[in-house]
Amino acid sequence: MLDSYGRSIEYLRLSVTQRCQQKCTYCSKSSGFCIKDSELSAERLVMIAKACAQLGFNKIRLTGGEPLLRRDICEIVTGISALKSLGDIAITTNGQLLKDCARDLKQAGLMRCNISLDSLRADKYKEITGGDLQSVLGGIHAAQSCGLDPIKLNVVLIKGKNDDEIDDFIELAKENPLEIRFIELMPLGDGGQEGINNSEILRQREWLRPAECQNSSQPAAVYSAQGFKGKIGFISPISHSFCANCNRIRVTSDGYIRPCLGSNLEYSLKEALEGTEDALKQCIVQAVTNKPKGSCFGQGFKTNRKMNRIGG
Ligand code: SAM
Repeated sequence: MLDSYGRSIEYLRLSVTQRCQQKCTYCSKSSGFCIKDSELSAERLVMIAKACAQLGFNKIRLTGGEPLLRRDICEIVTGISALKSLGDIAITTNGQLLKDCARDLKQAGLMRCNISLDSLRADKYKEITGGDLQSVLGGIHAAQSCGLDPIKLNVVLIKGKNDDEIDDFIELAKENPLEIRFIELMPLGDGGQEGINNSEILRQREWLRPAECQNSSQPAAVYSAQGFKGKIGFISPISHSFCANCNRIRVTSDGYIRPCLGSNLEYSLKEALEGTEDALKQCIVQAVTNKPKGSCFGQGFKTNRKMNRIGG
């Protein structure tokens, strides 16, 4: 469906939990907390997905918090994959628990996964995320083995923390059919850290060339180089706003639509979830219609929900 600026909104990022076992320094250092009771049930999440599918959405990504902490994650994926009009069902995960459930997720109908990986060094990875590097590497391998691909690895670069690993990540894309995605730090976490401007990375590596088949509806500018098996994606919400082509809305795990990541505007779905399918669709239409023209990232934006509570 079209928003009031003529953008075609067809991508739902559906958060299934605010809980996370990691404490990424740029997201929420206290992300282990959560009121589990406020999480929408699998049934409600599928109702939202179904309403969006009927409104013409064709892509759904499950996120969080850490989506694999939901014991009923396969049930959620099964319910969503039964919606035949969807062309893409993906998940974003920290990968810590992926090794043991990748195959079940694939069988439930999951098509792809993006995995967050902020360092290739065990000590640094632990320092940034609180997690275990070997577990996420095991998760990546399991996802590759059961065909949950193409796999994209999300890297948030922090000045003085992991920006000395940029070339190691690029090297990984040389040797493996993966897409490494450098995501600019957004003001959606605890603060006190400085991100890296993606243009700087590119300026210093002129040998990277725009990859063929760029998809205008995805925010990443994708590059590659001769002899590379994989690609490098640059997601640059701070240095290069992609709001004019934004095609998404977010739904939080406690039942609010956030039409724009860089705005605190939200619409509660709670009442509508108690009513008819039409009431639910009307609420989604209202949020899409009022989607802001652009994010407020360049205007001193202060979020009232950290990333783990919105759904990254
Ligand atoms: N727990 C899952 C994970 O770690 O991938 C999914 C949720 S996480 C919030 C989703 C994505 O948001 C991750 O790739 C993470 O790196 C990114 N993210 C979190 N906080 C961010 C921030 N302040 N700026 C940019 N990206 C951020």
